[in-house]
Amino acid sequence: MSTWPENRPFAATVSFDFDAEEVWIGENPANAHAPGVLSQGAYGAKVGVPLILEVLAHHEVRATFFVPGKDALRHPESVRSILAAGHEVAHHGHSHTSPTKLTPTEEREELETGLQVLRDLGADVTGYRSPSWEFTPETLDLLQEAGLLYSSNLLDHILPYRHPKHDLIEVPVSWILDDAPHFWFANDTWEKTIRSPREVLDVWLPEIDGIARLGGHVMLTMHPMLSGRPSRLAMLDEVLTHLKQQDAWIATTHEIAEYARASDPIALRRWRGGAA
Ligand code: ZN
Repeated sequence: MSTWPENRPFAATVSFDFDAEEVWIGENPANAHAPGVLSQGAYGAKVGVPLILEVLAHHEVRATFFVPGKDALRHPESVRSILAAGHEVAHHGHSHTSPTKLTPTEEREELETGLQVLRDLGADVTGYRSPSWEFTPETLDLLQEAGLLYSSNLLDHILPYRHPKHDLIEVPVSWILDDAPHFWFANDTWEKTIRSPREVLDVWLPEIDGIARLGGHVMLTMHPMLSGRPSRLAMLDEVLTHLKQQDAWIATTHEIAEYARASDPIALRRWRGGAA
């Protein structure tokens, strides 16, 4: 028996980390003065987001966009268009800096400032995804103090769950269903080759089907500057078609977290580390 709403066999969330220019500055502060490098991020705002919103609208799917505060300040019109289309906007740092590189005071400031910027643009922010999917010993305390509902950072499950010592839901992520390991290219190292959409679909669709068989939650993590390229928009279209064909409950991260807080799907399924 399904543990998901509407008796759906599994759940899925389409999420985007709208990093824009800030991720490149986070990678290397010298990039702040490198317009060519930064323009890779600007593509996400100028072209990626509008085209992604079209694909989502076509499928009537609502997504979650995790946005760094500084990128929201650079591209307020992008954030407004995301909100106007009915999508969720959530916290992704203020600058795109891993909390592990910040002092406790800086971490608090990043959290508070980023929250304020997004709220000033009209977002009802209830969740946080760290720029590095990494925590400090203080992070969960800070999220709870800020009154947030969920974190989407850890890679330890295929179902959402309650943090044992905090009033927070974790909505886990994975590298396999992230577009960056497959598509990220940086011209300072040339270490990574760019995969084709077909290769990535060969990785993603069996993983989605595997999670579906286990009644789990599919968390897709994409970046407008990567998945907003034309060939990959067609891939996104194919992934969304597949999720609908498999009868996924497609919900925002906020909705998944709310559902997990009310229903605790791991307990419902009596999860035994693999056998559902
Ligand atoms: Zn990011």
